[in-house]
Amino acid sequence: MVKNYINGELREAVSGEYFDNFDPSTSEAYGIVPDSDERDIELAVEAAESAFPMWSATPAAERSKLLMKIASLIERDLAEFARAECVDNGKPLHLARTIDIPRAIRNFEFFASAIHGFSSESHTMEDGTVNYTLRSPIGVIGAISPWNLPLYLFTWKIAPALITGNCVVAKPSEITPMTAYLLSEACIEAGLPKGVLNIVHGYGHKVGRAISLHPKIKAITFTGGTKTGAEIASIAAPMFKKLSLELGGKNPNIIFADCDYGRMLETTVQSSFRNQGEICLCGSRIFIQKPIYDKFKKDLVERTKKLVIGDPLETGTDQGAIVSSQHMEKVLSYIELARTEGGKILCGGSRFIPEGRCKDGWFIEPTVIEGLPYNCRTNQEEIFGPVVTLIPFETEEDALMMANSSEYGLASIIWTENLTRAHRVAAKIETGIVWINCWMVRDLRTPFGGMKSSGIGREGGTEALRFFTEPKNVCVKL
Ligand code: NDP
Repeated sequence: MVKNYINGELREAVSGEYFDNFDPSTSEAYGIVPDSDERDIELAVEAAESAFPMWSATPAAERSKLLMKIASLIERDLAEFARAECVDNGKPLHLARTIDIPRAIRNFEFFASAIHGFSSESHTMEDGTVNYTLRSPIGVIGAISPWNLPLYLFTWKIAPALITGNCVVAKPSEITPMTAYLLSEACIEAGLPKGVLNIVHGYGHKVGRAISLHPKIKAITFTGGTKTGAEIASIAAPMFKKLSLELGGKNPNIIFADCDYGRMLETTVQSSFRNQGEICLCGSRIFIQKPIYDKFKKDLVERTKKLVIGDPLETGTDQGAIVSSQHMEKVLSYIELARTEGGKILCGGSRFIPEGRCKDGWFIEPTVIEGLPYNCRTNQEEIFGPVVTLIPFETEEDALMMANSSEYGLASIIWTENLTRAHRVAAKIETGIVWINCWMVRDLRTPFGGMKSSGIGREGGTEALRFFTEPKNVCVKL
């Protein structure tokens, strides 16, 4: 049973109601989640507001120690966290164990140490007048995160908000609440003062909306779909809340004929299908230069067919379950759309029914599609599943035009051994993150986020520390 974490205690929702939590690999309800609403948010905000004077006055070194302690407790219980993430989300256990949970630990460790190097500006004028910038915590922060990388993205928001002296009211996705619940237990054990972090579970239209609407929540950090981001912005912007929105993507993977082919193929299988394609950074539109199109198509399809789909708890599984039946239906409907738009399914294309324990689970075969124009709906709308399309191109200009045709601008991948071209394309491509000859290589100090409909603001490193603080210029006439 999942409980809310408010004012340092684990509690039921005020409504006393719960809803089911499903294991996507079996489709069975295996737990219950509090059906919270604006009354729980009110309690959480009150707790956060009361804790703020103490927490914001706590020396950064002390806050840092507490974050390190939380990190060490997650590390101690890594196996339990990884299993919970796997069962809740459907992702392969080895992925949760080697990527999701270690990254959540790293998020706490990283910001606990980054704060020591955080400095502010000073500007001296010609007559000797000095301006310096104070950066103070904002107050109560709202954090709303999605289901695809549950603890990884949740802690990516919470850690920088806390280390800068803010108190937080956070909502994980209602579809994947388990590791956020385990985190609340870790915070209690670590001795995080009550009210500093509050985790409220429940539906987006109730709990998420109440966070957007609450006048005492001064800033919102949100990761999720573009439509939800727009809804939050429409409520929060007129209230002049500070907003960081990390939204959807339709990322291009541009493969030039002169690339390091073996490395590219290996990585492209990952950038297409890792975590069932449910990573906002997956390269779902693959543009291939014509001379290697046929070879690439054959090799990618061959490699994709070898991916092992099934029980996420099994060691050898490459592809786990899709997070919910609703999302599975959405992804399948896009495969159907691709068919009606004239696409040719080269492999996959259907729901997958494993044998045994997972026979009723929500699985989709990794799917490769070709023959669609770059501007059709399949190639423009976010699918967020194990589906990629292949699009041939002749020149660099063609590739750039098609890559940039999207309303989204989150991430891109470029494969070429021509250094000049790599930099030229990187400069012209309209995405917030560009990977050249690699994918998902993350240095936590770098700005992370998207352009266009993929969001506003950047997270990571100094960008996050700046977002969670209010700058104040002090001008001293000497
Ligand atoms: P959603 O936008 O549906 O949900 C994200 C979070 O917002 C959830 O906690 C959700 O709650 C909540 N929410 C839903 N409606 C509202 C509302 N009206 N007001 C406030 N909060 C609300 O996204 P998904 O969870 O489906 O995640 C997938 C999306 O996230 C994809 O578009 C993906 O690209 C994007 N994403 C972006 C990333 C980035 O860094 N740019 C990284 C990872 C994912 P509930 O679960 O209860 O609906």
